[in-house]
This record gives sequence, C-alpha cells and structure tokens, in this order.
Amino acid sequence: MSTLRNSNAERDARTLVHPYSNLSYDTESRLLTIVKGDGCYVEDDQGNRYLEGMAGLWSTSLGFSEERLADAANAQIRKLPYYHLFNHRSTEPSIDLAEKLLSIAPEGLEKVLFANSGSEANDQAVKLVWYYNNQKGRPEKKKIISRWRGYHGVTVASGSLTGLPANHADFDLPIRNIIHADCPSHYHHANPGESEEAFAQRLAESLEAQILAEGPETVAALIAEPVSGSGGVIVPPKGYYERVQKILRKYDILLIADEVICGFGRTGKMFGCETYGLKPDIMTVAKALSSSYLPISATLISGKIYDALVEESRKHGVFAHGVTYAGHPVCAAVALETLKIYEERDILGHVAQVAPHFQARLAALADRPNVGHTRGVGLIGAIELVADKTSRAPFAPARGVGPAFQSHLQRNGVIVRALRDAVAFCPPLIITKEQIDVLFDAVEDGLDFVAREFS
Ligand code: PLP
Repeated sequence: MSTLRNSNAERDARTLVHPYSNLSYDTESRLLTIVKGDGCYVEDDQGNRYLEGMAGLWSTSLGFSEERLADAANAQIRKLPYYHLFNHRSTEPSIDLAEKLLSIAPEGLEKVLFANSGSEANDQAVKLVWYYNNQKGRPEKKKIISRWRGYHGVTVASGSLTGLPANHADFDLPIRNIIHADCPSHYHHANPGESEEAFAQRLAESLEAQILAEGPETVAALIAEPVSGSGGVIVPPKGYYERVQKILRKYDILLIADEVICGFGRTGKMFGCETYGLKPDIMTVAKALSSSYLPISATLISGKIYDALVEESRKHGVFAHGVTYAGHPVCAAVALETLKIYEERDILGHVAQVAPHFQARLAALADRPNVGHTRGVGLIGAIELVADKTSRAPFAPARGVGPAFQSHLQRNGVIVRALRDAVAFCPPLIITKEQIDVLFDAVEDGLDFVAREFS
C-alpha cells in the first residue's frame, strides 16, 4: 500500500463522515479515493482506472473531462463569481438557463425556481404545493403521496418522500402529511401470472382506494420518478402512469415529476415524462442538468402554481423562500453549457444509437442462474441477484452478495452500484458501444464469481 493511500485513507478515516456508507466498517481498508477523470473513466490515488458504470451518482452525463464545462465555469467565475436572485436581483446565466430549460421542458411548465440539490428541489416542491393550496383556500388539502422505493432525497421533507425504510428509521421521518403508496415493481409485487397491465390496474385501484380512505379533499399531490433509480431501478408497468394520472385528475391532485435521474436523456427522451406520457404540474431536475460538474437544481412549475405564489406575495408582502446559491451564476453557466452540448452533439441521438445495445446486453443476463430479473430503459438498468431463480429467493443479506459483486467488479476496473438485491447500471450518456461491452463483460464475469463463491 503506497504512502499516498495510507495518508489519504488515514486522514479520511480521522475526519470525514461518509454519506450512505456503513460507518461501523473500517473505512481505511475500503476507501476508494478518486483523483481524476477522463471520459467515462475515473482514476484512483493508486493509478487504477475504472469505467464509471454509474456516472458517479447517476449523474455525470457528459463524462469526467468535458473541457467546455471547465471553460464555461472559468469564464463565468472571472466575470461574475457570485450574485443572487433575492429582492429582484438577477444574473444573466440564471435568466439564460431558465429560458433554455423552459424551452425543452414538458408543456405547461412556465417558471423556474433554482436550488442546489435534488433534495432541495423536491423540498421546495412540497412547500409550493402547500402554499398553493393555502392560497386556493383549501388548507386541508396537504397530503403528498410518494411511493415505496421512490427516492427523492434526504432533507426533512424530501427524506420523508423517499420510500426507503432506512431513510426514515431513527430520523423521526416521515413528517406529517407525507404518505406512501404501492411500489410499482412488477417483479417484486405482481401476483403469479399477473400481466403488467393487470398489475398496473390493480395499483391504480389501490391508489384510488388510498385517496378515498385519506379523503380526496386532504390529498394535494403525488410525486414520482418516471423510473425510480435508487429504489432499485423500478421501470413502471405498462399503462401505469396513464391510469394514475386519470385518478389524479379526478381528485384534483397535482403531479410532481422527479426527473433528477431521468432528466436530460437518461430514458431515451429528453425527460422521463416524455417516455411515459406524464403531464406534470411541477418537475424537479438536478444531476445531469450540469452533468454534475457543479451543484444546481431546479423546480419547474405550471402557470397556475406561479399565479398562486404571486397572490401569496401580495398577501404577505414577499415570497419568503429562496436559498443563497439559487441560480448561482457559475453553476448556471455550466448548466447552460451542458444543455448546449446536449443539443449540439445530439446526445439524445447518441443514446438512441447505443441504448439498444445496452439493453440487449442487459436483457441477455436474464438467462444467468443468479439473475432473477433484468429491467431497464434507455441507458439505465438493473439486475436482480437471486439465490434461487425459480423461487426468486434473494440471498440472505448477511452474506453480502451485492457488495461482494460490486467489489469484484471494482477490482476488475468497473464501478457499478449494489442496491439491496439489485445491481444498477447508469453510465455517462456519452458511453460508446465498446465501453458498454467492457461494462457487461465485467458484469458477466461478476456473475461467474457469484456462482463460484455463493452458490
Ligand atoms: N431525486 C432523485 C430521483 C434522486 O435520485 C436523488 C439523488 O440521488 C435526489 C432526488 C436527491 O438529490 P440530491 O442528492 O442532489 O439531494
């Protein structure tokens, strides 16, 4: 072990609290310190290169060495490193970015409220829904429905929206007025022999029953990722959103689309909303908005929600919401350049070209003995690791198969993410066919390792 590694690992263990890590583990022996990136690859402090099969955290869409984004940040930081949007102040990058975002967003979204992270974008979506219904004179219409296995962030409100037990346990979440509906995973929750359409119909009926039980006059909004990422890449069953949206319209319930992972080409269209026919009243974006080179997120809202904010301002004298870095000019300049690159390089066209190969290699894994299911769309996908293919019995968590699979791939120079029994793949959108083969060759080798070591 080199001195550099010793030094980084020791200093890290002494100082850092690692998000989403098991803090009872010995950090020093596990640490992976990334020091540079190049295209779809990153390199650690030992000089080992890795194909980043997760684009960081589902996010570095343009890979790790896009010079134009570095130049955009540099130019803006020299011109105006910071200014804010409070109190009727503005900056040109935030205006340009809002304009550009609205020009590509789903129909009906008319205004942009910037923030820094996906969690914040969803948090402010919750606040805006509450504010909206107060302005409309229906203070009882406040409940927000999220789905089990949905992931929407970690702040007090967005962590409540997140439908994963570990995000609630001992954090005293969820907060009041946030409730959870069925997870739309056909693999996990369909009855034996139940078709996707029949499953979607059952979910829709269950959602309607839940709304009626809560009282439709108390239900304000439903939030959904078009494809849930961190919950295990849950691709919705056929006909699901069509049915869900019919119910939302029936009871005057707003739809919040969380496009933090799906946004900007991940599912093959610019937004997951287009892939699945969603017509949101609110849409949140982050991650690929700036290819994650700098932190920036946004909550896009419909005209009717904006009108309510204006009315509330009239009443209170101010729209009393906003964060210091909202629309930060350097982040906005980088995001704007990212959106320009998507267009100029036809990133959607590239995804359309390589995604069939990605999906074909993914689907081929379904024949493997320890793969219970494969699922995906565009350039996102997952496999479900199982101990027994016929019964779909998962491995006992104590055996640590997912983490062992992930570590095996890492030793072979490929980064993927184990999420409970699923292993997710979500590479940079610029990935080539050849690199997709490197990724899935490593996954196949990892499945041989699982068969050898755990069967
Ligand atoms: N929404 C979705 C769909 C996400 O995947 C994430 C993060 O992974 C978030 C929200 C939260 O974003 P952040 O981690 O930037 O707060």
